[in-house]
Amino acid sequence: MARTAYAVILAVAVVLSARASGQQAPIGYDDTPMQPNGKWRVHDGTRPHPAVITPPPGDTPGGAPSDAIVLVGPNDDLGAWQMADGSAATWAMKGGVLQTGKGMLRTKQQFTDVQLHVEFATPSEVKGDSQGRGNSGVFLLGHFEIQVLDSYQNITYPDGQAASMYGQYPPLVNAARAPGQWQTYDIVFSAPRFAADGKLEKPAIVTVLHNGVVVHHATPFWGPTRHRSVLPYLPDMAKGPLALQDHGNPIRYRNIWIRELKDYDSR
Ligand code: MG
Repeated sequence: MARTAYAVILAVAVVLSARASGQQAPIGYDDTPMQPNGKWRVHDGTRPHPAVITPPPGDTPGGAPSDAIVLVGPNDDLGAWQMADGSAATWAMKGGVLQTGKGMLRTKQQFTDVQLHVEFATPSEVKGDSQGRGNSGVFLLGHFEIQVLDSYQNITYPDGQAASMYGQYPPLVNAARAPGQWQTYDIVFSAPRFAADGKLEKPAIVTVLHNGVVVHHATPFWGPTRHRSVLPYLPDMAKGPLALQDHGNPIRYRNIWIRELKDYDSR
């Protein structure tokens, strides 16, 4: 007890003397146990500090933080996008709103692990049913679809409704808004990892919030998503573009931004 009190007094004295001399007080510890991964001590003061970013303004839900790549913003700029064959983007963009057009749209940039924010609205005039009502999709790495559909009082097969991991898992709950209303997907995605010989080491994993409600929680994909299919992972699925699906229904998108996720202690 006496030794502990002495240590506390000594620590306070060191901090006060550092302040008096205008120096940064020492932070952290160099006499604590190593953490189990062997990289840092507990409370290690030499560990890199995370980058400081500007979070979205508090009065703008869904706004982009300062380190996001804005893919669909208020400026009607589709420069980040191209069609699936690499030709110029042809979907219409006006007033910050992107309208689905003919053919799949994909980013020029390739991604791996990301945080993604997407806003979409299915048509306010309800037409069709099941998979024919408000169908589009958000394709992570171009292979892993989070379904976009009008799932407000519209029954379809569960693993194909809005926010499903298409053909694999239904959402935990149906959090869909009514037709025509803006809705959000907030997605955290971990890309699959492959060994040098192409063998799958770790599947793609996704967490999805639909309108702020958790509908998938760190759920692995069995493989790429495809209609009526179960398909294997292939090594070229380790990275890829973000893609938006044309399913023949007029869907609107706005405010799409993405953040590349790096490892701890890297900036
Ligand atoms: Mg779809």
